[in-house]
Amino acid sequence: MDQAGRYRLVFRCCAFLLLFVAGAVAATAPVSNDPAQLLRQAENVEPSNHAVFDELMGRLDKVATRLSPQQKLHHRYLLARQIAFAGNYAAALPSLTALADQTADPVLAFRASANVIDLLVAQSRYEEAFARLNPFLDQLPQIKENDVRIQGLTATAQLYTEAGQYDVSMSYADQLIKESTDAQSACRGWFLKSDALFESGNAQLPAKQLHDGTEACEKAGDTLFSLSFQYLLAGFDMRQGRPESAIRLLQANYPKVLLAGFPPQVSEFEATLARAYWSEGDFASATKFANDALATNANRPYSESTANAYQVLYEVDKKAGDSNGALANLEKYVVAHDGYLSRLSAKALAYQIVKQQVLAKKLQIESLDKKNKILTLQGELDHKAAVTSRLYIVLLLMVLATIALWTYRIKRSQLRFMKLARRDGLTGIFNRQHFVNEAELLLQYCRKSSRDACLVLIDLDHFKAVNDTHGHAVGDRVLQRAVEACKTCLRSTDIFGRLGGEEFGILLPECTLGQVVVRAEQIRLAIATAATGENAPGIPISASFGASSVVHSGYELRQLMIHADAALYRAKREGRNRVNVVVHPGFDDSMPRDDLLGGDAHVLQDASMFRSGDGQADG
Ligand code: GH3
Ligand code: MG
Ligand code: MG
Repeated sequence: MDQAGRYRLVFRCCAFLLLFVAGAVAATAPVSNDPAQLLRQAENVEPSNHAVFDELMGRLDKVATRLSPQQKLHHRYLLARQIAFAGNYAAALPSLTALADQTADPVLAFRASANVIDLLVAQSRYEEAFARLNPFLDQLPQIKENDVRIQGLTATAQLYTEAGQYDVSMSYADQLIKESTDAQSACRGWFLKSDALFESGNAQLPAKQLHDGTEACEKAGDTLFSLSFQYLLAGFDMRQGRPESAIRLLQANYPKVLLAGFPPQVSEFEATLARAYWSEGDFASATKFANDALATNANRPYSESTANAYQVLYEVDKKAGDSNGALANLEKYVVAHDGYLSRLSAKALAYQIVKQQVLAKKLQIESLDKKNKILTLQGELDHKAAVTSRLYIVLLLMVLATIALWTYRIKRSQLRFMKLARRDGLTGIFNRQHFVNEAELLLQYCRKSSRDACLVLIDLDHFKAVNDTHGHAVGDRVLQRAVEACKTCLRSTDIFGRLGGEEFGILLPECTLGQVVVRAEQIRLAIATAATGENAPGIPISASFGASSVVHSGYELRQLMIHADAALYRAKREGRNRVNVVVHPGFDDSMPRDDLLGGDAHVLQDASMFRSGDGQADG
């Protein structure tokens, strides 16, 4: 084993626990019973100062009932540390882990995490310690409290050195130096930086680092870190082959180290002194310090200082020719050294395992992220497609609705025009043309089914006189009133139309000659009565009626009209306000009368007429 390798091994065990046992600020005696102040003091007390720390914890116990929920958490944290100070790491871990994982107080959780990492390393549970490092570093940017950040940076730099990641460790140590606001913290930073350099195999510290580190650690006083910094300088001396310088440094600090009483540190001082004395040829001193180191390390058989002490004893025995003693010490050295080496490789392995796990997790997260992104994009596409098709449907519905609306409007105006074209504007009944069309259709039907039908023509009597006497407007109202009167006597199957001026026609299906006289009489009476209605008060009106039947005139409308018109003409002649019906077809149709059917005119023979009516109208 070469010098450098040996002295790398010598140091590693105790550096880590320094964080755990080294407080930031020198303890002050407890002065009050204020819970907040007691908690602060206990937090900052140098734990090697057992008496003060225990007294503070005792006072805290007494005021425990007055603590706020957050202060209770802090108290639990200090109790766990107290257990750890007493060397019972396993018992302290569950409580500190629970505090590290709680979310009520992030600062306390961070502090507890730093402690958990320390204790895991102290118990050689490297994989768990490294696994906690990344989440721990994630919390660091949120931590604003200087002393807590220092604690975090210390733990991180140490853990990276443990993992053999010296460059990373040095960058965290630099950060620590930059952020330190007091000499103790600065000394820590310099120690950590120099430690990483030492572990990386360097033989000496750069001059500036040596100067600044020495200055900061001198200012810090005799803290565990400043003592370890001295020890580190001795290590560099040994590496450079200057054991006498190492002895000077170690001896000067040994009493202080004994006073601080941190066993791993004490044993390392002793084992290194033994090695230095052996190099100097002072075998008695070498043997003394090697045995001291073994005594101090009674509980730690696999530490590097134990291995180193046995190695010195073996070499002393060999030199003295005591081959039995030499063999015994060599065996013990091998056991201690192997134990230590296996811890070292366990550490390196654990770090690599965690690193791979973190990498695998990162890859898994990235692939999940990508999958999520694809799913999100897919979702967006689906959503857009759905929106687009919904838009198309809405558009289509709008087009259909517009078409339907236009169709409806066109249809409605068509119907209105058709109605206008078929109806008489003044009375609302069929106009002449429509009456003719409808009547011809009905007559065809009657002919086919051999049904009776009669045609009645109506002409208002002396209507010109109404106009002349009362005016055209009153004449219009009289016309409307006469139509209303007629309607009251009609069936739904009857066809009623205005043939022109004050002349109207009614085609009555299912109506015999006998029945037509009765129906026409009813209508005549209705018109005569209506004349006294409110639309034309005081104006007596009447109408004359001429009727023909299919029985005598056949199913041709033209013929029916000619015959009915002849009968009407006769009713007029006989004094008006009466009904005249054709009862014989043999009448004379050569005599022109009016323009009833496109200019044709007819007269009936006297003998062929049936008459009704009161004959008073003309009187
Ligand atoms: P008669 O008893 O012989 O039938 O005598 P009349 O006066 O009823 O017959 P004539 O044919 O001489 O007169 C018909 C009058 O009807 C002439 C015309 O001014 C009037 N007339 C025609 N159409 C309308 C109309 O729409 N409104 C009004 N107020 N009068 C009309
Ligand atoms: Mg007339
Ligand atoms: Mg008339």
